Amino acid sequence: MTTKRDYYEILGVPRNASKDEIKKAYRKMALKYHPDKNPGDKNAEEKFKEAAEAYEVLSDDNKRARYDQFGHAGMGNGAGGGGFSHDWTIEDIFAQFGDIFGGHFGSFGGFGGFGGGRSSRRTNRGTDLRVKVKLSLSDIANGVEKKIKVNKYVSCQSCGGTGAAGGSSYSTCSTCRGSGYVTRVTNTLLGQMQTTSPCPTCNGEGKVITNKCVACNGEGVVREDEVITVKIPAGVAEGMQLNVQGKGNAARRGGVPGDLLVMIEEEKHPNLVRDGNDLIYNLNISIPDAVLGAPAEIPTVDGKVKIKIEPGTQPGKILRLRGKGLPEVNSYQRGDLLVAVNVYIPKNLTREERAIFEKFAKSPSFTPNPDEGGSFFERMRGIFE
Ligand SMILES: [Zn+2]
Ligand SMILES: [Zn+2]
Repeated sequence: MTTKRDYYEILGVPRNASKDEIKKAYRKMALKYHPDKNPGDKNAEEKFKEAAEAYEVLSDDNKRARYDQFGHAGMGNGAGGGGFSHDWTIEDIFAQFGDIFGGHFGSFGGFGGFGGGRSSRRTNRGTDLRVKVKLSLSDIANGVEKKIKVNKYVSCQSCGGTGAAGGSSYSTCSTCRGSGYVTRVTNTLLGQMQTTSPCPTCNGEGKVITNKCVACNGEGVVREDEVITVKIPAGVAEGMQLNVQGKGNAARRGGVPGDLLVMIEEEKHPNLVRDGNDLIYNLNISIPDAVLGAPAEIPTVDGKVKIKIEPGTQPGKILRLRGKGLPEVNSYQRGDLLVAVNVYIPKNLTREERAIFEKFAKSPSFTPNPDEGGSFFERMRGIFE
């Protein structure tokens, strides 16, 4: 086991150095020992890694406090963890501290695999596909299977999605020698800077196809129409989105396909209005039907139902047909169908009809009784019970 150097000593800062001083010191070290400035120099690479390790600890308040108290012993893999638990690669250092170099290494941060996890190669993922599907209330009430035709990238049949003709004909990319990235030296005010970016020849894959598949031009995917069956559960609503995993665009050369995102649109029903899981139907009845009572037919999402209008039904009365509304998604609950009764008042009467109504006008039975039938507001309240 080799003796570790003191982190403050590595960065050449006093023990009471501010965060800013530590950052500046690390930046200086990192630029000095940058592997691209010192190609093949193992000593410089060690110094580069050493500086990153020191910076990782001293730039973090918790780790710095632990280090100040316990020294390197406090940085082990044991209790508390958080130390340098493994040998970092140059890529790891860029991923973690790339921003120390300012915009000059910006492209590194945005580059798939390096920016995110620890993997040094990015995983291809196909893009998501978005489609809209229009559903009738009946579809929504019962759930439905829709066949949706989409034009999308699918894996190329000729090459099995590899992009290479005749099986595997790959060679290591000569531009980046398989690393997947290239570095360029640029002159800036701060001296020479290294710019690191994904290799343009191999798109960061580190390998190139020597014999491209003709069908897909080496992409591994081709555009095609595909009919996808989507199972839509009962009770969905306008604006809801269903994710069908893996049914989006195929990824270039054997990655993970994207998802199919299905946006729900609701078709307007000619008679029924949706209110959450309830449905509302406006029923117009005649004065004689309201007075004498009558049968009525109510449209529902599953055909018509017959109901009875009671004699003496008031306009504004709400009849609740339990369970005739829409189901809740992923539940056995079902809304109601609310029948809002309106009594049609005729405007044009024959002389004979007028005479009858004039007779009614004098009759005590036709004189409104404020205590009977409840107030309009009480009936309205019934809607929201
Ligand atoms: Zn390359
Ligand atoms: Zn192909």
